[in-house]
Amino acid sequence: MNLVLIGPPGSGKGTQARLLVEKFKLLYFSPGEVFRDLVKKGGKLASKIAKIMEEGKLIPDKLMFSILDDYFKKKNLSLGLVFDGFPRNLAQAKLLERWLAAKKMKVDKVFFLFLESEIAVARLSARLECPKCEANFNLLTKPPRKDELCDFCGISLVRRGDDQQETIAKRLAVFERETAPAVDFYKEKGVLEEVDGERPVEVIFEDILRKT
Ligand code: AMP
Repeated sequence: MNLVLIGPPGSGKGTQARLLVEKFKLLYFSPGEVFRDLVKKGGKLASKIAKIMEEGKLIPDKLMFSILDDYFKKKNLSLGLVFDGFPRNLAQAKLLERWLAAKKMKVDKVFFLFLESEIAVARLSARLECPKCEANFNLLTKPPRKDELCDFCGISLVRRGDDQQETIAKRLAVFERETAPAVDFYKEKGVLEEVDGERPVEVIFEDILRKT
């Protein structure tokens, strides 16, 4: 089973992807996470990637593709895959199709998590993460147990660099302009499931499970 989660930033793709991974023991790919890890390691490529992310733009497709290939090199793809935040444009959707076809695989379902942009902005502005264990929290939808401290490490949570007001607006615009054509691509293929992303996490997850 190979699943794709598409949605504007703040739609809850990452949360739902992790729940799917846990339930079905699938392999997980989130380019955003891979890029953030690369940035932490430092170096020339890291600063180039950091700048693009801070501007709310997409990493160039060529680099994106080599990261995809590298990531899955020694992994057992027959376990099934969950893609969170990939593809993010039409070229990536077509590339993913060819990449999977070469392995005699295909995308089985695409879940499009939709929500009003005002809600996406509010959620992103309330998002926090642990700088140590990288656990995610959200003051609106998934608050930490105590103040703004990590439930697991007890240290102060931080905001992601690209969750600043100005970058959020740019990322939402990029979604409309670049990712929406990929949504149409999957709709035409008949694998798209639209999921209302404004509901509580557990309700969305049940909906996804029903549609899987
Ligand atoms: P995310 O964690 O999915 O919100 O992604 C954070 C940032 O990583 C995005 O704003 C992009 O700069 C970059 N990124 C993530 N996925 C992709 C992708 N499929 N193609 C290009 N850039 C990406």
